[in-house]
Amino acid sequence: MKIRTKAVHTGVNIDKTFNSVITPIYPTSTFYFDEIGKNKGYDYTRSGNPTRAALEANIAALEGGVNCSATATGMAAITAVMFFLRAGDHIITGDDIYGGTYRLFNAVLKPMGYDFSFINMRDLKAVKAAVKKNTKMFWIETPSNPLLNIVDLEAVIAIAKKAKALSVVDNTFLSPYFQKPFEFGADMVVHSTTKYINGHSDVVGGAIIYGRTELQERGRYLVNALGISQSPYDAWLVLRGVKTLVPRMEAHQANAIKIAHFLEGHPNVKKIYYPGLKSHPQPELIKKQMKGFGAMLAFELNTRKVPLNKFFKKLHYFALAESLGGVESLAETPWFMSHASMGEAGLKASGITKETVRVSVGIEDADDLIADLNQALKG
Ligand SMILES: *Cc1c(COP(=O)(O)O)cnc(C)c1O
Repeated sequence: MKIRTKAVHTGVNIDKTFNSVITPIYPTSTFYFDEIGKNKGYDYTRSGNPTRAALEANIAALEGGVNCSATATGMAAITAVMFFLRAGDHIITGDDIYGGTYRLFNAVLKPMGYDFSFINMRDLKAVKAAVKKNTKMFWIETPSNPLLNIVDLEAVIAIAKKAKALSVVDNTFLSPYFQKPFEFGADMVVHSTTKYINGHSDVVGGAIIYGRTELQERGRYLVNALGISQSPYDAWLVLRGVKTLVPRMEAHQANAIKIAHFLEGHPNVKKIYYPGLKSHPQPELIKKQMKGFGAMLAFELNTRKVPLNKFFKKLHYFALAESLGGVESLAETPWFMSHASMGEAGLKASGITKETVRVSVGIEDADDLIADLNQALKG
């Protein structure tokens, strides 16, 4: 089965009662036993639910993993993965990871005794040098948020394997259509399904996809023990959304390429970050590990010509909002919004400025989006 077919069919066909084409929602907290020790595979919805299981089978098939846990949010998925470790363990990760992940690592887990190195993961020498006796996990995000830096999956995962540490990839930005971390040896992949997998900005959710059976067993145990599995209603919405992942990603990307080229030539745009442009500094890596460029881009606005707030106010189609990956276009300022929790020092270290604008390109008509940006960029 090819990925488009998998997205439409995997997991969905479970109604043996009435043959509904669409997966039913099972809004039940509990399931009765026919006799002691005999049920139909489900006993309690925190531990397992048929609607959620349908989604999990689907996402696992798209990523090419053995199984998946669908969680209440993306952060819930990341939290569960961090419970594979314990206090004293060392994690190597990027200095420009998702703001919420940075907050969990730096402000919650570090005070609990977890040991982190936040480094520039593009620098393979720095990655190797960061390995310590207690290194147990490599947390990789690529392309990074919001500056679209690319981390070499194959090389970093090889370093992790040598260190006998787990490698986990947050694949939210590209989705399994444009990037398959398991092909490069990752142990687990996580998603904020809030973003492209659901794609319609109407639910929050997360997913952990396991590359091996023993990881799946531990992961499912943890998600149940922590109580962070996704509700059947939300899982049903994500399953509806994921079926159109491929055509949505193609539409998002086609628009992003056009917008990136438009912005690149604009006098009030100082710099643009997008993997689909020739100006991106890592073309070989992009070619090696990405099947597409995605639809997230960032640029440096000349705020002396176009004040930041005025720019956002003038936009009609790009809502000033955090999040990404929905069919509607969004724009925001990482410095003051999505990445503010990194603090000034963290922001500066990662290269984010007060002029950085992050855009999640939607699937509206590209000409309308460009006309909108054009009038807002006049200042
Ligand atoms: C949004 C996001 C998360 C967190 O997901 P939530 O669903 O908001 O909890 C994690 N990683 C990346 C890359 C994200 O964009």
